[in-house]
Amino acid sequence: MLFCMEYPPITPWIDRTRCIGCGECVRQCPTGALMRHEGKAAIFAPDRCTACAVCEEHCPVGAVELPFFIQLSPKFQER
Ligand code: SF4
Ligand code: SF4
Repeated sequence: MLFCMEYPPITPWIDRTRCIGCGECVRQCPTGALMRHEGKAAIFAPDRCTACAVCEEHCPVGAVELPFFIQLSPKFQER
């Protein structure tokens, strides 16, 4: 049996209702993928995100979460 898994670009989910705007994730992000917008954290440059999870680890209120995706390739889903 052959499985082919594809991983789409992963960026963190930011729950803006929980975010207190401390900016810690923005400061800690090693690639500059995040910014503060209207007092909350936001994805600024998703192409820069390396899914390192540093932002998730440093958020004091658990407002950042890295999703984990596994998608079967459509080519193999047809079989
Ligand atoms: S996962 Fe890493 S690279 Fe992506 S936004 Fe968070 S700290 Fe930045
Ligand atoms: S670390 Fe958490 S609370 Fe602070 S700005 Fe980022 S998402 Fe918001």
